[in-house]
Amino acid sequence: MPEGPEIKRTADKLDAAMRGKKVTKVYFAFEHLQGFSYRLQGSKILDVTSRSKAILSQFDNGLTIYSHNQLYGRWEILPAGEYPQNSRSLRLAIHTQDKMALLYSASEIEVIKTSNLSQHPYLKKLGPELLDNSINIDEIIARFHDKRFHRRQLMALLQDQQFISGMGNYLCCEALHISRMHPCVHLANLNKQQREKLAKNCLKLTQQSYKTGGITNLISRAEELRKQGTPFEDYRFYVYRREGLPCYHCATKITKDKYGGRICYLCPACQTV
Ligand SMILES: [Zn+2]
Repeated sequence: MPEGPEIKRTADKLDAAMRGKKVTKVYFAFEHLQGFSYRLQGSKILDVTSRSKAILSQFDNGLTIYSHNQLYGRWEILPAGEYPQNSRSLRLAIHTQDKMALLYSASEIEVIKTSNLSQHPYLKKLGPELLDNSINIDEIIARFHDKRFHRRQLMALLQDQQFISGMGNYLCCEALHISRMHPCVHLANLNKQQREKLAKNCLKLTQQSYKTGGITNLISRAEELRKQGTPFEDYRFYVYRREGLPCYHCATKITKDKYGGRICYLCPACQTV
């Protein structure tokens, strides 16, 4: 499933293509939304943003389209009228004079009043957004010190969007690795310094992944490997999908295991806390 950085990059592309433009037509596949087509036609797109794994397309008539891609949803931006050849199921299409934004296969689409966004059941429960431009590290650190979360295991906790919002499986594996922490550890077992270190690494890696198009590895190492002709998927991570390969820090073989139903890649020698 795409994680915060991938969703935010998709929102950026939609925003660049659609912002400020007049909507010529909106198509909804779901019958219960079709009444909104008429109301959105002729409105202007104010902006397209992301919150955690949701995309919000805001219009100047006070309405916002909320969409959550889940596992299979996919946005495509194309010149007007050039429908792609694919077998996916079109769920939403926003047309402007020169472009169209098409959303395929997503099952969660809603139209809500922009003024009610903060009351949306998914949005209102989200923890601090790691990719919010105005995020403050102190806000993230405070979350890690919040006793409500101390009984949780790190592997599931870091991916819980109600704790902090933006991380999924690969970011969790990578942040635990550079923090030298085991996925089974409970937040309560970390001391103050360790909680701060983990909070900073979660923020750092999520923002780095957003800025670099998905690289969490040390930038200088990734760049070196790229120059040597290493494929992107093989140089972007410290441990994710690198089982059997040597840890960059200690050369121990990376392992792949399941913790609490979630796959985790880790270095058994480095991640002992
Ligand atoms: Zn190691």
